[in-house]
Amino acid sequence: MDSKDKRSAKSIFEEYINFNNMRMTAERRGLLDAVLSTKGWFTREELAKMLKKDYSLNVSRATLYNNIKLLKDLRIVVAHRFSDVTKYALASVPNRNGLIYTICSQCGKIKELKSKEMVQMISNYKAKRFSIDGYSLILYGLCSTCKVSNTKQSLKKKVGKMK
Ligand SMILES: [Zn+2]
Repeated sequence: MDSKDKRSAKSIFEEYINFNNMRMTAERRGLLDAVLSTKGWFTREELAKMLKKDYSLNVSRATLYNNIKLLKDLRIVVAHRFSDVTKYALASVPNRNGLIYTICSQCGKIKELKSKEMVQMISNYKAKRFSIDGYSLILYGLCSTCKVSNTKQSLKKKVGKMK
């Protein structure tokens, strides 16, 4: 997320808070800044630690949960349930109505997929009796690193059998 996107994420968040007569507390502001400074996937626990260490904020579990949910609803972050834990990451462009990403089912690496064709296809798609206002599409598979290491391992096994 570049600085322009971060500013727009901030204003989306602030507008929402104001519009709903909520208060922009120190916890909320700190949480938003912390989230905007992340560079990968994070868990709620990791975010809580970061808030304590870098922002001297002790945020309750409920506050953390509610605000992350809000960031998710505002599409500032995306969430993904891994086998044991839910992780969050910044959506690369806030205010955009869709996101396509790939997840490696072996190492869990997540990358955003930038495909003009797919974005075009989805925006042209008309669903029956349903008006689409956003999407989140996950493609599962193997990343190139895992694929290479798997190939190497299966080659080793084959060579082992030949001996
Ligand atoms: Zn992988």
